[in-house]
Amino acid sequence: MSFKPISDIGEFGLIDRIASITAPTLETTPGITEGIGDDCAVYEISRSMVQVTTTDLLVEHVHFDLLTTPLHHLGSKAISVNVSDICAMNAKPRYALVSIAIPSKTSVDLVETLYRGMSETSRIYGLAIAGGDTSLCPGAMVISVTVAGDIEKENITYRKGAEPGDMICVSGTLGGAAAGLRVLMREKSVMMEHIRHGETYDKDVMSNLSDYDDAIRQQLLPSARMDIIGFFEKENIVPTSMIDISDGLASDLAHICKRSGVGAQIEESRIPILSQTRHIADEFQEDAMNYALTGGEDYQLLFTLKPENFSAISSHPDISVIGKITPKDDGLLLRDIYGMTVDIQSLSGFDHFSG
Ligand SMILES: [Mg+2]
Repeated sequence: MSFKPISDIGEFGLIDRIASITAPTLETTPGITEGIGDDCAVYEISRSMVQVTTTDLLVEHVHFDLLTTPLHHLGSKAISVNVSDICAMNAKPRYALVSIAIPSKTSVDLVETLYRGMSETSRIYGLAIAGGDTSLCPGAMVISVTVAGDIEKENITYRKGAEPGDMICVSGTLGGAAAGLRVLMREKSVMMEHIRHGETYDKDVMSNLSDYDDAIRQQLLPSARMDIIGFFEKENIVPTSMIDISDGLASDLAHICKRSGVGAQIEESRIPILSQTRHIADEFQEDAMNYALTGGEDYQLLFTLKPENFSAISSHPDISVIGKITPKDDGLLLRDIYGMTVDIQSLSGFDHFSG
């Protein structure tokens, strides 16, 4: 057997292999209608209701840096990213199981602050923290959150289901989380430079961050868009497909197209980006559109709707129509502001195991 490192197959390649090994277990439990491959696993709990479940790992040095992340915010984000996956199924979160592994030298106060962040955010979402586990882990903090929710069977929304002619919509703005991360990483390197020179680090060393507050907030304190799910319910809208944007618009739109067996064309001029995000990209001599397409961690909802729903969403201040679903053979295209089209699949999102 030849040695093949995980970085050769990437995160999605690894998930595909795990899915094929675990697929036979799905036959043991009737009622599992979706396994690996969507934002949540789906289990029929009654004739009319389904339960949706998701889990996420946050690993220190990989997903977060304690030098730039307040523990209270981290706790909040750990909950929000899971609730975001529940929203992506058009469902409501009900309860969470939270597990942490921490180095033994971690202060009690820090752990309490982390859980306070989780608790306060959970209450906003109407989510109960109902259990979990704790363990020692030398060298890094690891947080695992599992959230279960439910939804009427007729209203569940999968990644599959998009059809040619559907509108492609997105909530909020994109690219802000990636822009915020750039600023935080720059502040960290300033901080490290001072420490390296034996200077005491104090808050004055950091630049005034108020010009970057929206982007930093999007990175450190993303919100799950339960308000959009509530809006759908009020307007009697059921999207034809939906996903939350965790890896970047390009990669997450590709997931919808792959699962639905369709193509897509989106318009660069319609992709919502905050002016602050554009300013930050300019400062770093980077492209804000690139943040939106491949940056990830925005936790907005990307969904498709039948054209007849247009009037219902047109007045919503925080939903943008960015393109339309096309036949599969048309591919995944981005039309830039000059009218040129580029293949979206040539742009990829974040992969934990590559490079
Ligand atoms: Mg997701």
